[in-house]
Amino acid sequence: MTLIDGKKTAAEIRAELREETMRFEARYGKKVGLAVVLVGEDPASQVYVRNKIRGCEEAGIRSFAHFLPADASQKAVEELVCSLAADDAVHGILVQLPLPAHLDAKRILACIPADKDVDGFSAENLGRLALQEEGTVACTPLGVMELLRRSGIGICGKRAVVIGRSNIVGRPMALLLLNADATVTVCHSKTPDLAQICAQADILVAAIGRPRFVTADMVKEGAVVIDVGINRVDGKLVGDVDFEHVAPKTSFITPVPGGVGPMTIAMLLKNTLVCAERAMR
Ligand code: NAP
Repeated sequence: MTLIDGKKTAAEIRAELREETMRFEARYGKKVGLAVVLVGEDPASQVYVRNKIRGCEEAGIRSFAHFLPADASQKAVEELVCSLAADDAVHGILVQLPLPAHLDAKRILACIPADKDVDGFSAENLGRLALQEEGTVACTPLGVMELLRRSGIGICGKRAVVIGRSNIVGRPMALLLLNADATVTVCHSKTPDLAQICAQADILVAAIGRPRFVTADMVKEGAVVIDVGINRVDGKLVGDVDFEHVAPKTSFITPVPGGVGPMTIAMLLKNTLVCAERAMR
């Protein structure tokens, strides 16, 4: 069994990005820029936003942080996002979710143009992924693909099973694997015989949000297991996979924490650079 080290890989990617953003700056005389919008004071969101801003610094990306009060109006948030959309120094816009309940998140996200949508959440970008066209792909599934690639794990012709079909993880994950020529099955809460389906997977991706959901009997000997889940149990972070019992059966597995998690921010930074380069074409 080989442990896939997401923390180390993410640090390598940040170092590579630093070189690339320096080249961008030398070529175009401006920095790559990412705007981050946080509305309210949700503690988890504050940590995520801080980490994203720190990641920008490490990768040589200029960050524009905008903190709005929890009672900010729909109009105020939309106006801010529209002004960022029109700002040439801003190549990517990220609105931290969840937004306070009184705000219409869909309408606010719709103010982000597809070419600055570094989260890849827009209908346009998800559609482009489905059509195998150039676009921006959601950071977490993109991070999984990068971990597979850098671990030398082939995807073409493999049987892949994705548990979870959310628009930000499971669905784009399944499309990415399909586009890489895997035979993909997507499982969700209405899937009968889920354990048997999972047990056929060469590559099993768990993106459910249920602690230790994937047990050893659901995993084929020698499978690659990618655990996207982040769950807090008794103050400890655990994944969707029962790591202790599953790991010995696998050829490769990601730990939680230190697996997929650190890759998400690395891919956000990478998406920002890609958007900046496309803006210069
Ligand atoms: P989500 O929107 O809640 O989606 C969960 C998916 O799991 C749904 O498709 C749901 O099926 C399915 N599911 C739930 N219970 C199930 C069951 N008993 N059997 C089979 N399928 C079941 O969650 P998400 O945003 O995709 O996130 C999934 C996990 O990844 C969470 O733990 C989240 O914290 C984590 N995450 C990690 C990162 C990272 O950076 N590592 C990023 C994003 C999310 P239905 O569609 O039928 O309801």
